[in-house]
Amino acid sequence: MDTNCLFCKIINGDIPANKLFEDDEVLAFWDIEPQAPKHFLVIPKKHIAGPADVADIDQKLIGKLITTGAKIAEENGIPQYRMVMNNGAEAGQTVFHLHMHVLGGRAMNWPPG
Ligand code: AMP
Ligand code: ZN
Repeated sequence: MDTNCLFCKIINGDIPANKLFEDDEVLAFWDIEPQAPKHFLVIPKKHIAGPADVADIDQKLIGKLITTGAKIAEENGIPQYRMVMNNGAEAGQTVFHLHMHVLGGRAMNWPPG
């Protein structure tokens, strides 16, 4: 837990979020500023600043972000989607608590901007 971290505050319940799923290890919630018709985030409850800070011991937890995101997408009628993790400000990271974006509900462009 990082007391200055926005997503740790959401995990703690200090800041509200529109939650989709929660267990003891992960939390999923709708993005407050959606970039697609369907856009949610899946985060570990453990504070990890970003992809570059994932340790070997976290590998199973990070895999769970994908299985959780895929299950939630299916349950919410999002059969096709993009999963994204940004590492560093230049890549678009604004919240320094690891999160996986799941975006769907429209056609996606490649390469991303
Ligand atoms: P990133 O730019 O990859 O760090 O993604 C951070 C994401 O968190 C952005 O898509 C924001 O819209 C989203 N976000 C920021 N604050 C909140 C919040 N309070 N509830 C839900 N999503 C948020
Ligand atoms: Zn955090």
